[in-house]
Amino acid sequence: MKITRLHVFQLQGVMEFPGAFWEERLVRPIDVYPEHKAEGPSNTPEVGDGKYLIESSCVEVETDEGVTGLGGPITADQAQVIARQFSPIAVGEDPRATERIWDKIYRSQVHGRGGVVMMALSALDCALWDLKGKWAGAPVYRLLGGPTRPEVPAYASALGFSLEPDLVRERARMIVSQGFKATKWFFRHGHLDGREGIRKNLELARTLREAVGDDVDIMLDAWMSWSVPYAISMAKQLAEYNPRWLEEPMMADKEREGCALIRQQSPVAIATGEHQYTRWGLKGLMDSRSADILQPDIYWAGGISEVVKICNIASTYDLPVVPHGHSVPATAHLILSQPANTCPILEYLIKWNEIHQFFWKEPVKPVNGVVRLTEKPGIGVEIDEAKIVKRRELN
Ligand SMILES: [Mg+2]
Repeated sequence: MKITRLHVFQLQGVMEFPGAFWEERLVRPIDVYPEHKAEGPSNTPEVGDGKYLIESSCVEVETDEGVTGLGGPITADQAQVIARQFSPIAVGEDPRATERIWDKIYRSQVHGRGGVVMMALSALDCALWDLKGKWAGAPVYRLLGGPTRPEVPAYASALGFSLEPDLVRERARMIVSQGFKATKWFFRHGHLDGREGIRKNLELARTLREAVGDDVDIMLDAWMSWSVPYAISMAKQLAEYNPRWLEEPMMADKEREGCALIRQQSPVAIATGEHQYTRWGLKGLMDSRSADILQPDIYWAGGISEVVKICNIASTYDLPVVPHGHSVPATAHLILSQPANTCPILEYLIKWNEIHQFFWKEPVKPVNGVVRLTEKPGIGVEIDEAKIVKRRELN
């Protein structure tokens, strides 16, 4: 079997959602500049009352035997990298030889060890695994050596919800009533936001703990926007609310040293790594003892092939891997192929999944707080043609 084309295209559709889809945003590293701190949540373009424009690019690997593999959603930038830079290497290759294709592209992209290029390679790798599963007539978790169990618990990430305490309480209780045993929320304030910011960050944790009681895990994400002393001080104050972890206090380039220092004094476990790429990036965090939980994203860090390697390395340090949740379908296959102590839980970003899985016929959603495996071959997602308002070919 040979690859004949890496076909990239963009789908447009209209999502209906009453009211504001994004109510609030997380704190960002650029918020140290007041003009950016003042910015509201980034908008998914509204195209009418309660109607939002969804644009998703995808890659489809085409072969001379008619078997195909689908990857996405990705950005149009990533689609262009696949079309222009990867096609000359991948076309003519056997699509089932995923290690060979990954390594050839990696060796050809000496400046592409992260960012858009590595994200594009991640998506192509996922599309190749989808193809390999469809060719074998088996779900990807089975090709990866799973399943290790029939289902995995999911945690609900509440990015984009209002941080008004009354609404936080209401939504957190709603999440628990849906069967989730864990929920993650996102701070809005960083280390330059003074006592008022500290007060509001602590209020978020207190509100959550009071809302969900003692038997539900809460996690808190600082999205790279804190400093070492601030994170240490906050971790000590947050300990009272017993969070399962404090996430990504430092920017990726500073987290090896920074999170190692934070961990020495933090009474709360530190989770990080979603902005690191490849086995080498994640191994750096392991070697420097910078994380209690590692969070590579399958669609960013190098694909299923690479995150399997990261899980293998992490298991030698006895560190859990809780992948960041860009693609729930792809991530579920990987998690269900790993022992529960290596991959204990799956991230479900409530709002992002409405967008990322918008075009899928059967989105993978937790039911009663768990994601169960299915027997669908490959990754198991199919495009719902009825959702497409406009389709644009990108190559
Ligand atoms: Mg995060």
